[in-house]
Amino acid sequence: MFQPPVEICFATNNLNKLKEIQSLLPEKIKLKSLQDIGCSEELEETQDSLEGNSLQKASYVYDNYQVAVFADDTGLEVDALDGEPGVISARYAGNSRDNEANINLVLEKLTNAQNRKAQFRTVITLIIDGVNHQFEGVVRGTITDERAGGHGFGYDPIFIPDGFDCTFAEMSIEEKNKISHRGIATRKLVNYLINSFD
Ligand code: IMP
Repeated sequence: MFQPPVEICFATNNLNKLKEIQSLLPEKIKLKSLQDIGCSEELEETQDSLEGNSLQKASYVYDNYQVAVFADDTGLEVDALDGEPGVISARYAGNSRDNEANINLVLEKLTNAQNRKAQFRTVITLIIDGVNHQFEGVVRGTITDERAGGHGFGYDPIFIPDGFDCTFAEMSIEEKNKISHRGIATRKLVNYLINSFD
């Protein structure tokens, strides 16, 4: 059991993500952004797995700033493409990180494919007192033939989660968070923190 009050860095500068997780935590657990701890470096993601990248980012912050920290990494894994784009989801069609080009490449590679099953997977690595913990969230679904919906980001317009008949991009953020990979991994992290800081 860890001693309150507790400060934990979320290795991100995305304040929306930070606020969202903070709202799920008890007040005694305070989340800090990278900026809050004085880290302005770009965190490298050079590993070949989501596990490796989230560990790499969390380790960098832990080693250089000596704070409890967690970091996440997410990818779309398409069965018929042997798990691609996976860890290179943001740069699938090149280093310009062009979302539209990434979607086009997935659709092109799946032209005439019988099997359009895929999953989004998020891995969160938490490091506290030098010990690593990983939390995974997976949502299975199907890649559509064409885009649908204007919400969300990334590959949302071409992914229909199992049990639904619309894409992630046709759902509200709240609906998506309830069932998403990131939502599942985040709830596992939050439960762990709540139980650890009782
Ligand atoms: P990150 O690890 O959250 O930065 O995600 C890496 C890449 O995966 C993003 O640039 C998106 O292309 C894709 N991605 C991550 N999460 C989602 C999601 O919830 N919906 C659609 N695409 C996503």
